[in-house]
Amino acid sequence: MKLDTSPIAAIATAPGRGGIGVVRASGKSLAPLIDALFPGTRLAPRHATYLPFKNAGGEVIDEGLALYFKGPHSYTGEDVLELQGHGGPVVLQMLLARVLEAGGESGLRLAEPGEFTRRAFLNDKLDLAQAEAVADLIDASTEAAAKSASQSLSGAFSQVVHKLVDQTINLRMLVEATLDFPEEEIDFLEKSNARGQLAIIIESLEHVFRQAAQGALLREGLNVVLVGQPNVGKSSLLNALAGAEVAIVTPIAGTTRDKVTETIQIEGIPLNIIDTAGIRTDEGMDVVERIGIERTWGEVGKADVILHLLDASLGPSAADEEIVRAFPQGVPVLRIWNKIDLSGHKASIDAAADATHLYLSANEKLGIDLLRAELLRIAGWQQTGESLYLARERHLIALRAAREHLELARQHAMQDDQSLDLFAEELRLAQDQLSSITGQFTPDDLLGVIFSRFCIGK
Ligand code: GDP
Ligand code: ZN
Repeated sequence: MKLDTSPIAAIATAPGRGGIGVVRASGKSLAPLIDALFPGTRLAPRHATYLPFKNAGGEVIDEGLALYFKGPHSYTGEDVLELQGHGGPVVLQMLLARVLEAGGESGLRLAEPGEFTRRAFLNDKLDLAQAEAVADLIDASTEAAAKSASQSLSGAFSQVVHKLVDQTINLRMLVEATLDFPEEEIDFLEKSNARGQLAIIIESLEHVFRQAAQGALLREGLNVVLVGQPNVGKSSLLNALAGAEVAIVTPIAGTTRDKVTETIQIEGIPLNIIDTAGIRTDEGMDVVERIGIERTWGEVGKADVILHLLDASLGPSAADEEIVRAFPQGVPVLRIWNKIDLSGHKASIDAAADATHLYLSANEKLGIDLLRAELLRIAGWQQTGESLYLARERHLIALRAAREHLELARQHAMQDDQSLDLFAEELRLAQDQLSSITGQFTPDDLLGVIFSRFCIGK
């Protein structure tokens, strides 16, 4: 991503048709742009002005509202101009083209993905965790995910991280001050209760980690793969879990040829469920079926859990034994016996040595609640009632690394020949990890990666 600070513009609303559409511009000074667009008109900051939007020749393209935010009191911390017109793709393109033309002399160019938010970060309007929460709020796939993204956006997550950083800095300063007076080093750990302070930091870090890990679950969801012979009821089970008709259910074997990915939610956790092509091993398959089967195995390797579906009224087939042999190591398998209405089994769950067996009926909606509860258990979901932070994998890695450094610090403090300089060094490393979450200590290339995943106009 270019780091030049020339003014930028982009369409800020989603592509397609809508009631209104917004073209947004940001720059250190947008006065030349505003003069060119609306000669002789003064736009009062934070007031909506109803205006015709005209092209260079004076013809009206659209009319709508102009909103002007004078920096630093804006999203990006720079001057921001928002033009709200009608939300059609052509009219918005014309409006954007007009803005780029009118701002041409002041160096205005098209914004790159995430560039508005990156400027907000660079101008200290948002820290990095908050900036990431902007993208996560936009991408949230469930209401619970949106709520916790909004928690992070409001700075709640950043605040607890800052508190950990401050506590670590305080302890570090104490230790480093002692390092200058070697004769006092011996008693230092006792007198200052450094071990007790460290224990408190580790405890709060673990608490934050748990909330962040639950939040990450809301963001990432659980990848679930449905496998099984044709006609065992994979599509029916998906529908029963989703509570809506999302996959084609037919009584003819082999109808779900392409994989169907459907995100459903259980208690707000997105389950990315892939209903696979029925796995058949006979020779009579056509090309489409073969491709579907290859894809199926590709997905199974990436799954968090495999749901292996069987027909309880028929029992396992030779092909099922082959499927089981092909399962990748380390991915938990739930063996689901469907159609208990035909077999006479009771809805139940049984953790056996080979796998957890679950008896249910997709059609009769028997045992579906057992399956939902088991999926939540596998996901590691705990209803805490606490507000969660919509954390990213990156945050969890940093929190984990910080915890390791604090543990090492604890070990240095435990040894008989306590090593205060190693203790201090581990505190410093823990602090760097924590600071990378909010972006006080984040390499530029990582920033580039983070912001490039935003949409244009955000
Ligand atoms: P898939 O090929 O594995 O996706 O199987 P489908 O979901 O398309 O279902 C195949 C057939 O089995 C359909 O006729 C379903 O109505 C039927 N079926 C699915 N679940 C049940 C069940 O719990 N009980 C009974 N009796 N039939 C079921
Ligand atoms: Zn199917």
